Amino acid sequence: MSTIKRILVTGGAGFIGSHLCERLVERGHDVICLDNFFTSQKSNIAHLLELPNFELIRHDATLPIFLEVDEIYNLACPAAPGHYQFNPIKTMKTSVMGAINVLGMAKRCRAKALQASTSEVYGDPEVHPQPESYRGVVNPIGPRACYDEGKRAAEALFMDYHRQNAINIRIVRIFNTYGPRMHPYDGRVISNFIRQALEGEPITIFGDGAQTRSFCYRDELVEGMIRMMEGPDDFVGPVNLGNPEEFTIRELAELVLELTGSRSELVQRPLPEDDPMQRRPDISLAERRLDWRPKVSLREGLLKTIEWFRSIDPSGYRPPTPNY
Ligand code: NAD
Ligand code: UDP
Repeated sequence: MSTIKRILVTGGAGFIGSHLCERLVERGHDVICLDNFFTSQKSNIAHLLELPNFELIRHDATLPIFLEVDEIYNLACPAAPGHYQFNPIKTMKTSVMGAINVLGMAKRCRAKALQASTSEVYGDPEVHPQPESYRGVVNPIGPRACYDEGKRAAEALFMDYHRQNAINIRIVRIFNTYGPRMHPYDGRVISNFIRQALEGEPITIFGDGAQTRSFCYRDELVEGMIRMMEGPDDFVGPVNLGNPEEFTIRELAELVLELTGSRSELVQRPLPEDDPMQRRPDISLAERRLDWRPKVSLREGLLKTIEWFRSIDPSGYRPPTPNY
């Protein structure tokens, strides 16, 4: 039997999705990238377009589509707070209707489907670090709810299709991931700080900067996603994928200043509503079941990311929303 599979990646033109497509194409798979380009641009996948085993479909994940595939990675969803809060109803529709469409396709084709879930399902966590068994504290009526609750609903749908229709599923809970191809105007902390440092603009710290995040380099995250998809069928997850090294936002700002050699000043801005105060994955499950553990330090990953930001012209990037 051929080991070459036909694989659909929804959100495949995005920051993580484009790298995932690249990795799957390199392995010889027949890859279909589906995207509506809400938060990404064609330049992310332009280098793949000429390849015989890569195909691009401009399509909105909220609408059904009929394709014949063996595996589906479901990544379509705006991921940066400014992007997902721009049109919150659409964000929720993308998570929920997108999941239903993907799962319907998986049912029809007997395909395997992996959901790109998020550490946001834990909300502003009271348990630290967060294991998969923790059920989280999410504000269901706040400005982040469109994303957090949409992703929680998608997880519920994946599990129900699995139990009710025996669909072969996987759920990964991704913690903050960074690297080359982040949208320079996505408003996320790493892209903001690097862009601000390189342009000599003030570095905007929201709140007092004591809140923490744990940052995973993109390539290692994608490796974890592929291991999960290709892992044993009895391990459906959810599984945390992230780098357990934890930093305050102020420490991150200082590291970006050091690595860019920038003289930008640090300024404080109001903390956004419901901004989680701490976040660090417990990755013992991924270590045990997938033999996966990130090795790239934040310093090392930031250097590669800064190099990429230096190589692009940010004026060529269309800010998807005014929220950056
Ligand atoms: P991204 O914004 O770069 O990628 C999302 C992609 O989905 C974009 O190409 C966008 O155009 C596309 N998209 C959005 N709505 C769509 C729709 N209705 N139809 C079709 N395409 C649509 O963000 P990313 O960081 O690459 O995130 C990819 C996935 O990983 C998302 O599902 C996100 O929730 C998840 N995730 C990311 C992180 C992270 O730190 N980067 C953390 C947790 C979860
Ligand atoms: N943040 C910040 N300055 C910025 C952008 C973000 O201090 O210019 C903070 C934000 O308040 C949050 C953390 O950095 O505490 C991570 O924000 P991001 O939007 O990257 O991701 P998320 O909040 O979804 O983890």
